[in-house]
Amino acid sequence: MASYIAAIDQGTTSTRCIVFDHAGQVVAVDQVEHRQILPRAGWVEHDPMEIWTNTRQVCAGALAKADLVLSDIAAVGITNQRETTVVWDRHTGEPVYNAIVWQDTRTDGIVSELARGEGGQNRYQSRTGLPLATYFSGPKIRWILDNVDGARDRAERGELMFGTMDTWVLWNCTGGTDGGLHVTDPTNASRTMLMDLRTLSWDPDICAEFGVPMSMLPEIRSSSEVYGHFRSRGVLGGLPISGILGDQQAATFGQACLTPGEAKNTYGTGNFLLLNTGTEPVLSENGLVTTVGYKIDDKPTVYCLEGSIAVTGSLVQWLRDNIGLIGSAPEIEQLASEVEDNGGAYFVPAFSGLFAPHWRSDARGVIAGLTRFVNRGHLARAVLEATAFQTREVAEAMNVDSGVDLKALKVDGGMVNNELLMQFQADILGVSVIRPKVNETTALGAAYAAGLAVGFWSGEKDIRANWAEDKVWEPKMSEQLREQQYHEWQKAVTKTFGWVEE
Ligand code: ADP
Repeated sequence: MASYIAAIDQGTTSTRCIVFDHAGQVVAVDQVEHRQILPRAGWVEHDPMEIWTNTRQVCAGALAKADLVLSDIAAVGITNQRETTVVWDRHTGEPVYNAIVWQDTRTDGIVSELARGEGGQNRYQSRTGLPLATYFSGPKIRWILDNVDGARDRAERGELMFGTMDTWVLWNCTGGTDGGLHVTDPTNASRTMLMDLRTLSWDPDICAEFGVPMSMLPEIRSSSEVYGHFRSRGVLGGLPISGILGDQQAATFGQACLTPGEAKNTYGTGNFLLLNTGTEPVLSENGLVTTVGYKIDDKPTVYCLEGSIAVTGSLVQWLRDNIGLIGSAPEIEQLASEVEDNGGAYFVPAFSGLFAPHWRSDARGVIAGLTRFVNRGHLARAVLEATAFQTREVAEAMNVDSGVDLKALKVDGGMVNNELLMQFQADILGVSVIRPKVNETTALGAAYAAGLAVGFWSGEKDIRANWAEDKVWEPKMSEQLREQQYHEWQKAVTKTFGWVEE
């Protein structure tokens, strides 16, 4: 009897395979980082072939670390960095270009051109839930077809396939050119700007306006069903692949946010606050995104409101790699603890423009409020505080859009090990911040989706039962200080606007 589920987590910085037991506990993890290819300012690419090699490697690694054999695993789920776009040749399996990563801003011109039509930046919002922005996949596909020699002709002849990373991994795992499945799930499809949120099908009019031939697009299936099996070659040969969720939706599922009103915030490369709004999509009037939360087999679709923040943990990486102020990400806590507060400095990391709730692609980063007084410790603090302030911005938008005030926030991701940040987050939000025992919620969510499809878990009650609290931070800051600091932050944000001129 198979006692484990594996999840492949194809993330922005690395690819992981994690094996979980029935209690949702991590049994083994294997992880390999891939190159961040930065050809020019604002461009971010990954090599899809490198990622496919890493995927095979981590699957083997996780099995070896857990000392398991194939028959111990009941099924495999996939979760992935969302929006990142690959276009490849269906006959050779060769990508026609590197994957264009979600943070990449090269589609600025395409997006501005599309936004000139009636309705402006929000012209597709009622159908897709999204504002026009460089973030989403549709404009990235268009860029590849416009800029790679011969790509548009090949796409129109039906020779090319598009996929987000879930689709790329699934197609390769199920055989690639030898019968690979060209499939995605509605959570990933809802980030392309090409899918109708209500029907969960590709919108032919939007595809035409974006110049994307529909023959390139994968079939949209549910988030939890047996799509197919691993090709016979490779360590997972023959296992069912039965769950796909975009990383943030997977974390929402893994955090057991299964009833309307439940929310989680993931602190990784960027931050993503998702609120379950139930089976009807709620359109935002305050700069949030409406997205599919999950669709389990033939059950009704569950929707979320999402506040997407591009740069949080990656600002800590920048401080380490580009500035050299710290030697490792966790060291920032020590440095920030050397001072009482930010010394008046505010760091707005608009490196990819600003996402929610501002959606300003003309913004670029600033450090505001500098005086001779400000030292390394203050800057370290300002870097951490930027994450908390940006979270407050999206939490406020969410309160207004949903009409319900957030009472507590479930958190996960790499940055939640930072106690100073978690305390400041509780302080600046004025609500409790709760960290669960299993912090690998993204992979766990994909494992749940896969496990539900094969009967390994019987239903949502199993997911709820597996969730357990690890630590809670309560707000301690005075209301007056909280509001004063937030006011200064908001002033700093305005200084980023309009930096990039057309
Ligand atoms: P992702 O899944 O997006 O690759 P993770 O959830 O693994 O990200 O989180 C990694 C991010 O968290 C990195 O950007 C890193 O800089 C940041 N990070 C990790 N540990 C800490 C820490 N102790 N304090 C602050 N930031 C941290």
